[in-house]
Amino acid sequence: MGFEEYGHQVHDWLSQLYTSRGVHPDETIRVCNQILEYARKLDDEKLLGLAYYYLGETYYLLNNVDRLFLNVSSSLVYLENTGQYELIARAYNILAITSYNRGNAPFAMDYYLGALSYCDRYHLEEVSVMIRINIGMLYNGSGEYQKAQHYFEEAYQKLKERKNLPEYDVYLMSIYIGMGNSYLQREQTKKAQEYENRARTECYDRLGETGKTCFLCFQARLYNSVGKNAQRDTCIEEIQKRVHEKMVVLDIFDDFYSYCEMLFEIGRYEEMQEVLEWLGELAESTHIIHMQKRLLRIYIRYYRLRGDEQAYLQACARFYELTELSDKENRYMVSSVLTMRDNLEETNRRKKEIERENRQLMHTSKTDALTGLSNRFELNEYAEEAFRRCVKKQCNLAVELLDIDYFKQYNDNYGHQAGDACIQGIAQVLKRLQEHDHVFAARYGGDEFVVIYEGYTESETYALAEELKQGILDLNMEHRYSLAAEVVTISQGICCDIPQAEQKVWDYLHAADVMLYKGKKLSRNSVQIEAYTKL
Ligand code: GH3
Ligand code: MG
Repeated sequence: MGFEEYGHQVHDWLSQLYTSRGVHPDETIRVCNQILEYARKLDDEKLLGLAYYYLGETYYLLNNVDRLFLNVSSSLVYLENTGQYELIARAYNILAITSYNRGNAPFAMDYYLGALSYCDRYHLEEVSVMIRINIGMLYNGSGEYQKAQHYFEEAYQKLKERKNLPEYDVYLMSIYIGMGNSYLQREQTKKAQEYENRARTECYDRLGETGKTCFLCFQARLYNSVGKNAQRDTCIEEIQKRVHEKMVVLDIFDDFYSYCEMLFEIGRYEEMQEVLEWLGELAESTHIIHMQKRLLRIYIRYYRLRGDEQAYLQACARFYELTELSDKENRYMVSSVLTMRDNLEETNRRKKEIERENRQLMHTSKTDALTGLSNRFELNEYAEEAFRRCVKKQCNLAVELLDIDYFKQYNDNYGHQAGDACIQGIAQVLKRLQEHDHVFAARYGGDEFVVIYEGYTESETYALAEELKQGILDLNMEHRYSLAAEVVTISQGICCDIPQAEQKVWDYLHAADVMLYKGKKLSRNSVQIEAYTKL
């Protein structure tokens, strides 16, 4: 999504935002608030959507759920209104992860599917890789291993076309570990080994410490399940060395959790406790209650096994307290989600209504309000018919695209009203040109017009185009800010030929556009004409 229409100030903020996001949360929040303040004054929905989204993303990384929900839900309507679909998909992804981490898998799935529908509708392939991986992990976590594999496979197919993605190796490793894990759960160890092998040879070396450690956790469990105990123990040794290092708990929790379960199974209680304590600290600092509860589950099983009744009861009581808290958190989440849905539905309903009204309006009126010339709808219809006639009769068709030279300067210096009058003047000359048989003119949009000549040779067409050019010069509209002449001029690009059935009139229009572009580059105030077959 481009932001070309904004000035330096906004561009400065945007570049500060893009460099600080994910690295310096304080800086990101500061910039977002500046953008918000500016956007609120101007009622600028595009910037409002963007700033609220990045605030939400930052609070997500800081694990501040209240503010995350508040900002992301504020962003959605603005993003929708201004067509910033990639950010919507990312916003849903964040909401999904947050819901999942709080133990609400159905909500999470709903959000992921919402995100995916945006990705598919607007071809957001890169984001869709990430979301498909996340859905795979969600299914793995809920014991639906085949569904998980389906999503990992889709993610893989899309990812392999995108080797230049900065996250390529991380994504690839996530897919391989995800596939490996689901095969491990399905007790298809040969397949799981295949993925372990691919992960090790294709991406392990290029990963950071966190990625490597997650892979080791998977490897340890794989070796354990095939009875390679010596190799498993080497992995355990490696992993334990990394425990207590600083890692992002969200990125490692599931891998370490499964690893802990394995340690519990094989009776390596000392190592297990070490990991549990470390994960517990990380989880506590994030205030993610669901994670703390999952860890307590292992503790409870362990205390029961050891017959340590007091510790067991204490852990159970703590589990109960956390359950009460997470219920409260869930209720809050549900209510904010419902409000958010409501707002969005209202926006979508309004949008559809407006679109319907617009379509109707545009269809019923076939003339351009400012000039009285035909508008684009009428042009579409006429152009296709003219094209069909010429194909049938095998006679010449010429499509001309013309554009006022330095019209922006005209507007900027003489004012918008004078600009409108200038467009009307040109329309008058076009109307006169239409008096020739089989010549049709339409306003294409802005300062661009289209003329269609039917049944004229190339030189006849050129002569008519010259007549048009002269007619506009004769208007003698002063344009002191043009670099082409002292008066208003136009540039004309024409494509002409005998059309063939397999071609489309839009091929001719496109060719005329190429000629116009050429004219704008070579010399404005000129007519560029070329046969279609020579282009
Ligand atoms: P070039 O010679 O390359 O064509 O330069 P230009 O300045 O004409 O460039 P551009 O096509 O970017 O500028 C078109 C301007 O036309 C921009 C816009 O402000 C103005 N414009 C578009 N529609 C209208 C309209 O309906 N009324 C008025 N007054 N101005 C319009
Ligand atoms: Mg122009």
